[in-house]
Amino acid sequence: MNKPTVVDRFRALFGRAPDFVARAPGRIEFIGNHTDYNGGTVLGAAIDRGVWVAVAARTDGPRRFATDQRDGVLALAAGAPEKQAGAASWTNYPLGILAALPAFGLRAPGGFDYLAMSDLPLGAGLSSSAAIEVSSALAFLALTNQAPSRETVVKVGRHAENHFVGVPCGILDQGVSGFGQKNRLVFIDCRGPHFDTVSLPAGAHFWIFNTHTKHALIDGLYASRHRECMEAAKALGVAQLADVTPAVFAQRGTSLPATLSRRAAHIVGEIARVGEVRGALGKDDLAAVGLALNASHASSRTQFENSTPELDFLVEILATAPHVYGARLTGGGFGGAVMALTAEKFAESDARKVAEAYAQKFDAVPDILHTQTGDGAALV
Ligand code: ADP
Ligand code: MG
Repeated sequence: MNKPTVVDRFRALFGRAPDFVARAPGRIEFIGNHTDYNGGTVLGAAIDRGVWVAVAARTDGPRRFATDQRDGVLALAAGAPEKQAGAASWTNYPLGILAALPAFGLRAPGGFDYLAMSDLPLGAGLSSSAAIEVSSALAFLALTNQAPSRETVVKVGRHAENHFVGVPCGILDQGVSGFGQKNRLVFIDCRGPHFDTVSLPAGAHFWIFNTHTKHALIDGLYASRHRECMEAAKALGVAQLADVTPAVFAQRGTSLPATLSRRAAHIVGEIARVGEVRGALGKDDLAAVGLALNASHASSRTQFENSTPELDFLVEILATAPHVYGARLTGGGFGGAVMALTAEKFAESDARKVAEAYAQKFDAVPDILHTQTGDGAALV
């Protein structure tokens, strides 16, 4: 995908060039599993695929929406956005941005023509939702001649997802899409939130194996992990688990009921591992980074119990594959995808071997996606 393709499509649909085109990337949760709502830290990678949004102002009222994912143009009246259902439900992402802007003291545009195009798989755990939110936000802000801070843009995106779309995501998705940089990871301290970037050696590659599995009780499982973390923090006398150091946890963790102790061990350990990975990246030590990724997965498997046999199998195979530094489940868990950090030498044929072994065992083929870091959201 590139800007000329988006502009051509926009012209074909709306009969004129867009006023602005914005692009925002998808993201990978690199390490820092379930740490966000515990006030912890997380490292994410913006990838080299994303969502493009083109817009042009209209003076005559309606807002017309189109996407490369569906046929047709949907016209909605300007004014307070109303939540859409069925085939129009994808517009809840840009509509959520329009609804969120006033909450940040920003103006929403009136009428416009809008086109979203993407080279990012949807619903694959790479946060196409954050990508369409952040790119829409940048396009709408350009249309209304407003330029708030990057942090505000990211928060507008999250607000749209939490309050309009109705998904209770943390700041990771939009934060990484907004603050990503090629050859760097985004570090977020969720307590601020504070955003920073850390250098990632240029030879590092990502391979995503998406199992397309999803635990039937996934929403309830997220809710119960969230509740267990809050209970553990309360029992330890802190506001959130990020306030517990590994040393304090070693002393006091055993006083917790066994399940709460394991959940807290995962969070406290993950936050420590995010710190270790940051340190190892500072020394370009991808081998040490890989060990921390493997340790993160092991902790998901045994302590947080948000892995599955499918994800464990992929991580196990990848641990013995050549040119792999490490692998872990990425995202919330209970199904979904595994991410491997590899050297450049890890080839398509190596990835296919992993997928074939998986297919033999589970009678299903995982999707394979090879990607590297890419730049964060911007007008293009
Ligand atoms: P993920 O964020 O992991 O990709 P989500 O279910 O959170 O999965 O978000 C996917 C949804 O985002 C899609 O079903 C669609 O409604 C919307 N979306 C993302 N990208 C686009 C796009 N280019 N055009 C239209 N809708 C999109
Ligand atoms: Mg999403």
